[in-house]
Amino acid sequence: MSWTYDPTNIFARILRGEIPNKTVMETPHTLVFHDIHPQAPVHVLVIPKGAYVSLDHFSAEATEAEIVDFHRTVAKVCAILGLSGEEGFRAIANAGANGHQEVPHYHLHILGGRPLGRMLERV
Ligand code: AMP
Repeated sequence: MSWTYDPTNIFARILRGEIPNKTVMETPHTLVFHDIHPQAPVHVLVIPKGAYVSLDHFSAEATEAEIVDFHRTVAKVCAILGLSGEEGFRAIANAGANGHQEVPHYHLHILGGRPLGRMLERV
C-alpha cells in the first residue's frame, strides 16, 4: 500500500505555523490542539508532526519513536483534560471516504465531558 500526502492540507498548514491553533500540548513528534468546531465539551485533535495521511499510514510507516510519542501524548492529554479514569472519553480516527475523513493528515479526535451515546448510529 502507498499513500500520497497532500502538503496543502489544513493541518500541514497549522504545523508550518501558517494558520493559528489553540495548542493543548506539543512534543517533538506530536501536536494536540482544540477542534475548531467542538462536538463535545472536550474535543481535541492529536496529530503527528510527520506527513501521514491516516491511522493505517501512520501505523505502517511512522518510526517507533513517533508512534510511542503519539500514544504517550494521548495518555498525557487525557490526564490533563480530566478524561482518564471513570468518566472516560471516546477516541475516533476517521479514514478515507467511508470514514468521512475531511482533513487528509492523520488525527485522533479525543472527545469527552458528557455522555457520548452509542458508538455508531444504527442504520
Ligand atoms: P475529520 O472529519 O475526522 O477529518 O475531522 C476533521 C476535523 O478537523 C473536524 O472536526 C474539524 O472541525 C477540524 N478542523 C478543521 N479545521 C480546523 C482548524 N483550523 N483548527 C482546528 N480544527 C479544525
